[in-house]
Amino acid sequence: MPPWTEEQFLALRKAHRQVLDRIAHAAQKSGRSADEITLVAVTKSATMEQITALLSLGQIDLGENRVQQLEQRAKEIAALPSNTTNPPRWHMIGHLQRNKVKQVLPLVSLIHSVDSQRLAAEIDHISGAMNVISDVLLQINIAEEQQKFGLGTAAAPELAQQVAQMKHLRLRGLMTMAPYADEGEASRPVFREAAALFSQLKSLLGSPSHFDRLSMGMSNDYEVAIEEGANVVRVGRALFE
Ligand SMILES: *Cc1c(COP(=O)(O)O)cnc(C)c1O
Repeated sequence: MPPWTEEQFLALRKAHRQVLDRIAHAAQKSGRSADEITLVAVTKSATMEQITALLSLGQIDLGENRVQQLEQRAKEIAALPSNTTNPPRWHMIGHLQRNKVKQVLPLVSLIHSVDSQRLAAEIDHISGAMNVISDVLLQINIAEEQQKFGLGTAAAPELAQQVAQMKHLRLRGLMTMAPYADEGEASRPVFREAAALFSQLKSLLGSPSHFDRLSMGMSNDYEVAIEEGANVVRVGRALFE
């Protein structure tokens, strides 16, 4: 690994500011303020130096898509001297296997990737044993891409109702990914459909106030996602590359 230099720190700070500025601008365009949008910095390709630097710049929400790496990084950050950074809030954004739930649950503040009744039931069960209530999102595969996880739009109402009944889960909303395209504009129809499903499920569930998170948008399309109603964006490359 190359040495971490002042120059690299400045580049990261600049990239972080630029993402925050663009989030603020997109929020304004959709009649909201920047503080209604949560930036999750996706650290799967970041170095520990980059992660700690980002925390020192005030970034709080971090996301990983693999349990093992999330666990390792959470441990390394927890082991830093306590005045180094504020503690991060970890987001599990990738596919979660049921046998990893026990490991990941104590570390994360939000699981974005619930896509089956069996996974939800396992999170509910372990949360009960830990005496906690876990915040989760349903991952929806709007475009029904074969290679992506997530449930189809048609299956969402039934799972949403099942999860809403689970005592140790709090269903906070939806997560989706658009098919990859260089041009963010290409994601707009998918995001619009996800936002419509979000509203539909919210009324189906009786409009609980905690059903309030719509996680969509990555480096290539987060501004479009915000314009379409996202209030959580998951950005990696735009910060770390
Ligand atoms: C990697 C990843 C992201 C971030 O993607 P970038 O293109 O690096 O911004 C967002 N969400 C999920 C689920 C990911 O796996």
